[in-house]
Amino acid sequence: MNFSSKLLENAVNEVSQLPGIGKRTALRLVLHLLKQPTSQTHQLSKSLINLVDEIKLCEKCHNISDVAICEICVNPSRNSEIICVVEDVRDVMAIENTAQFKGLYHVLGGKISPIEGVGPQNLTIESLIDKVQNGNVKEVIFALSSTIEGDTTNFYIFKQLEKFAIKTSTIARGIAVGDELEYADEITLGRSIVNRIPFEKSI
Ligand SMILES: [Zn+2]
Repeated sequence: MNFSSKLLENAVNEVSQLPGIGKRTALRLVLHLLKQPTSQTHQLSKSLINLVDEIKLCEKCHNISDVAICEICVNPSRNSEIICVVEDVRDVMAIENTAQFKGLYHVLGGKISPIEGVGPQNLTIESLIDKVQNGNVKEVIFALSSTIEGDTTNFYIFKQLEKFAIKTSTIARGIAVGDELEYADEITLGRSIVNRIPFEKSI
């Protein structure tokens, strides 16, 4: 691509770093931004800067939050005896949308994946074990997508939790293997949480 402007080229290069965005799409987006009122593009830039500078991870559940402890964790009407283990914030959002779960979450920040170089130590597994050891947890629900990485992660955590006298369960899904949680419809996902099954029966 030959650019008539270095400024344009830089912007296109930056935008094309985003997943799923090629150079052509990046050019289209940047030209669109140029046509917008300046204030709108400033607003976009500012919101991204604020996002990366100010976003926090909840100290308890590791979910993305604006404050040190997230809204779900501080809510006294949530049941702290049940913890739902998920991969990332998108899963929390998907499960919250079902309005079927009143416990707390634990966000792992990924799944164990030797190919991508992600080991248990790269996830928040230790903090989950601490929570079970030191808290009043009665049940841990695994709600990771049923990919090989998801299953490996579930099983690894299950083994770590075996020594504690708690229930472990997994969401019973009408969701096909490999489907990501966020794409499941709310009713199906809601039902799969309500009708969760003991983890031992899923392996
Ligand atoms: Zn939290």
